[in-house]
Amino acid sequence: MKTLDFTRPGTAAGAVGVAQAAFEYAVEYAKERVTFDVPIAMHQGVSFMIADMATEIEAARLLVWQSAWLHDQGKRATLQSSFAKRFSADTAMKVTTDAVQVFGGYGYIKEYPVEKLMRDAKLFQIYEGTSQIQRLVIAKEIFLPRDD
Ligand SMILES: Cc1cc2nc3c(=O)[nH]c(=O)nc-3n(C[C@H](O)[C@H](O)[C@H](O)COP(=O)(O)OP(=O)(O)OC[C@H]3O[C@@H](n4cnc5c(N)ncnc54)[C@H](O)[C@@H]3O)c2cc1C
Repeated sequence: MKTLDFTRPGTAAGAVGVAQAAFEYAVEYAKERVTFDVPIAMHQGVSFMIADMATEIEAARLLVWQSAWLHDQGKRATLQSSFAKRFSADTAMKVTTDAVQVFGGYGYIKEYPVEKLMRDAKLFQIYEGTSQIQRLVIAKEIFLPRDD
């Protein structure tokens, strides 16, 4: 379990990277693609997706940094590592799915990079402890906190 405490922030950082890449592709595409005479970034339905992506990526990144900082201080960070892993993985899945949405049909095909990022994001919800297992760890830390 101590090993997982240590490795989960690194995995979570990977999930943040996948989400950040999808976000950057989506922003560029939203500026280029024109529908109804304006770039799709000008449609609120699209720009709100981008705004949520940016907010959630920032929150995920801060959770990763917090858990890594605790490890650097030599402190046990079971709770924070699971916070970071769970939130980063689920954020990567949501952000990459929304990035595919921003690309429309092009998002779904291999010609553009976001469908690959969406498939990559799924792994982060599975390995190094699934998102359900992270919730299990978090709940245990809340209800049965360990002192060591
Ligand atoms: C590409 C890849 C690389 C991997 N690399 C490694 C590696 O290097 N080292 C390694 O050891 N493993 C590795 N794994 C395995 C990975 O860690 C497991 O797939 C993961 O832990 C889930 O276990 P499982 O597949 O047996 O799913 P299961 O445990 O069968 O889970 C199936 C589903 O049930 C849910 N579930 C299970 N138990 C509970 C519970 N108590 N409460 C709520 N929900 C629950 C899970 O969340 C999941 O949704 C890798 C997997 C993949 C896909």
